[in-house]
Amino acid sequence: MPRLEPLRTCLGCRGEKTKRELLRYVLDPAGVVVPDLQAKLPGRGAYTCYRRGCVEAAVQRRQFARAFRCEVKDVALQELATQILERMEERIASYLALANKAGKIVSGSDMVMEAVRKGRGVGLVMVAADVSPEIGEKVIFLAGRAGIPCFRFLDKDKIGGLLGKGMRSVVAVEGGGFVASLLNELNRYGNFLDGGAVDEQDPRV
Ligand SMILES: [Zn+2]
Repeated sequence: MPRLEPLRTCLGCRGEKTKRELLRYVLDPAGVVVPDLQAKLPGRGAYTCYRRGCVEAAVQRRQFARAFRCEVKDVALQELATQILERMEERIASYLALANKAGKIVSGSDMVMEAVRKGRGVGLVMVAADVSPEIGEKVIFLAGRAGIPCFRFLDKDKIGGLLGKGMRSVVAVEGGGFVASLLNELNRYGNFLDGGAVDEQDPRV
């Protein structure tokens, strides 16, 4: 089969991947490296994998300057990594908000556990990072048994805020396009953190 998608090289590990699989960066007019998660900003792009280790290697080996073929402002790794994580969180949050508007969200531990038990088309479950251990374990166990991918993400306050509600420690997303988009984003987020955002039930296995 001919390869239809152009390949790009990660500045960190030098691995070749399709553009879609990589994180794009551009240089702003002031010479600052800016992550471009939507891959929409104009100008020459540089790429890394969605992995903190690859970003780190690219920064340490000054690969951004080489890729952009000009002077770039010193890249502060911590700052760049924080920016990337924040933008990934924003993307996940916006998908959640859209799913909520479309009526595809079940929230609250009891409601979610009931939906999972009854097999009501739940596509993925998210538990807040600060969920109580007891509830967290129960939900993760039930989701695992049902073969539903489960992720830790944000805290109770933020999840509730996104849904226009009070604190919510557990949410489930019911079928549809939102599930695929969210799975993609959450996997990337987890990969970037190198296991920091635990995908308790790895859907890729
Ligand atoms: Zn890489």
